[in-house]
Amino acid sequence: MNDAGASAEVEAAACAAAPVPAERGQREVFCGLTGIVWLHRKIQDAFFLVVGSRTCAHLLQSAAGVMIFAEPRFATAILGERDLAGLADANEELDRIVGRLLERRPEIRLLFLVGSCPSEVIKLDLSRAAQRLGRVHAPRVRVLSYSGSGIETTFTQGEDACLAALVPEMPASAQPGLLVVGALAEIVEDQMRRLLDRIGVGPVAFLPPRRAGELPAIGASTRFLLAQPFLGDTTMALERRGARRIAAPFPLGAEGTTMWLRAAGAAWGIPAAAVDAAVAPDRARAESALAAKSAELAGKSVFFFPDSQLEVPLARFLARELGMKPLEVGTPYLHRGLMAEELALLPGDVTPVESQDVEAGLDRARALRPDLTVCGLGLANPLEAEGFATKWSIELLFSPIQGYEQAADLAELFRRPLARRRRLAA
Ligand code: SF4
Repeated sequence: MNDAGASAEVEAAACAAAPVPAERGQREVFCGLTGIVWLHRKIQDAFFLVVGSRTCAHLLQSAAGVMIFAEPRFATAILGERDLAGLADANEELDRIVGRLLERRPEIRLLFLVGSCPSEVIKLDLSRAAQRLGRVHAPRVRVLSYSGSGIETTFTQGEDACLAALVPEMPASAQPGLLVVGALAEIVEDQMRRLLDRIGVGPVAFLPPRRAGELPAIGASTRFLLAQPFLGDTTMALERRGARRIAAPFPLGAEGTTMWLRAAGAAWGIPAAAVDAAVAPDRARAESALAAKSAELAGKSVFFFPDSQLEVPLARFLARELGMKPLEVGTPYLHRGLMAEELALLPGDVTPVESQDVEAGLDRARALRPDLTVCGLGLANPLEAEGFATKWSIELLFSPIQGYEQAADLAELFRRPLARRRRLAA
């Protein structure tokens, strides 16, 4: 767990449309190792080897306590006291562990060495280790590295760092195509592919791919569309390869999904009316499923603590499609470029707060008494004990929430804690 402390100060940060208050202070978020929990399910022949401490191993075990029946695809190489004191050669030890792992697990095609706070503190150079081990184990296994450290980061940045590490490995291509970027559940990926095909956009590829050997090709004719909002480093890496981003809101809710698909269509010269006609039945189904949920959610207030970086698109969805009232939208980082379309859609009286100071945020939440509070696990239990209805933001990363078919499921994630609180009160 990351608990970066500093004296609280509030400063103003410039935003294209309006100033966004940016706080600096103590925060409580999971670290980037958490991303392994959904990434290891996505890239099916990859293995994530965290080079860290027992704390890192505990975090992974408790965040992913689902691996009892399967061969796990992640593990922690634990740095002992001798490594941390610089008395042992951690590189030698790492080479031995990786050799043993790859011998025992011949199905692994892609190995990520994942840095942590302890490996960063002792300055263990994992990118050099990845190059060295890559040479030893090529061509069977590709070895890459990225940092999941919790020093000044938040948990979704683990996915950003992982995808950014994949970009230099993507083959070059001059062929036009659409790349959808961000880990999506396979069911969502299949739906998106069907919709984009129907609209006439393609060929479509996804990053990350389902298998290490299926990394999509990229070049100056590639247009890419983000499916997740926290991919700033990946965006820069893709742009360095010549690909161009299609600016769009994120595909959350019926409206968000339609705008996302329209943006893809526009990049292919397809008018919005033609996109709308192609997706009309899907959109209508999503809207009617949402209408059933909005009866219980409309008019309810919601307060976001900064955690997942999904806060702004979620607040937009809850306000515009379900009639909820966002009181405060805390977000750990606000990438104004990637978030411009979302910020423009937020109700005028809602201002995001960047890098919120947790104590000040708690004071404001207690004063405002929202009907629903969206926050990390560390805050949820104490707030529940104080009588708040809470939603764990991490669940929004583990659940399929993007696209038309999932719009009502996304609304249900917010309806359920309110219903539970009502039952408890009764
Ligand atoms: S990487 Fe850092 S914050 Fe994350 S579990 Fe390990 S020690 Fe804790």
